[in-house]
Amino acid sequence: RKSIKKLTTGSKNLDDLLGGGLETQSITEFFGEFGSGKTQIMLQLAVNSTLPEENGGFDSDVLIIDTENTFRPERIIQMSKYKGLDPDTVLKRIHVARAYNSHHQILLAEKAADLSKEFDIKLLLVDSLTSHFRSEYMGRGSLAERQQLLNRHMHDLLKFGTINNAVIAVTNQVSARPDIFFGDPMTPIGGNIVGHTATFRIYLRKSKGGKRIARLIDSPYLPEGETVIQLSEDGIMD
Ligand code: ATP
Ligand code: MG
Repeated sequence: RKSIKKLTTGSKNLDDLLGGGLETQSITEFFGEFGSGKTQIMLQLAVNSTLPEENGGFDSDVLIIDTENTFRPERIIQMSKYKGLDPDTVLKRIHVARAYNSHHQILLAEKAADLSKEFDIKLLLVDSLTSHFRSEYMGRGSLAERQQLLNRHMHDLLKFGTINNAVIAVTNQVSARPDIFFGDPMTPIGGNIVGHTATFRIYLRKSKGGKRIARLIDSPYLPEGETVIQLSEDGIMD
């Protein structure tokens, strides 16, 4: 077993909450309502993974499985400049795979192993983990099948993280009233559909301006707690 490494989020507050950053060989789930900052955090993690280790990165390539077409190169450029990185070099190291449906998403996660033969991928992001599954498996009758597929998918992701000593981070949009917004009677507040497999779960909620409150939920060994982060033009910070 390779020794666990940690990736900075760009926010000292959030890194501290996580005991130093996002851990390799486990899955970290960011969940929260629309606009809570999940995608911004994913983009920031992608940039940060290319940073040298002494600056909290892995000096590595990144794979993003993008299910909602929300990858924005312009944001990568802004965030890279702020970190003093060459934006073109950073963009070349971020491999974006667009997933057209849940089946394709599962396939892309399986194929990630092939990409890692060619590139040193230490960060695998899925944004959003749940959107395709939610829209394709609606109603009570299909929940068991959806859950089974999601579990298998998460297992594949975790396997990639273990073999490559990589960080896995995923997003999951939830609403305060999931019963109304997703027509999903089994999703409790907090969106528990991925909760069992994700080792670290961070609930994001909106605050004033670019501020967001990040809360660590059900961690196996870290204390539960919350902190404030800032979303800005330059990226995620305190
Ligand atoms: P969804 O569930 O809809 O995917 P999300 O949680 O992914 O939502 P984000 O897209 O990460 O939400 O967050 C959007 C927010 O990020 C904006 O409301 C704004 O506060 C902030 N943001 C995005 N781009 C910038 C920017 N260039 N400068 C400053 N803040 C920005
Ligand atoms: Mg998003």
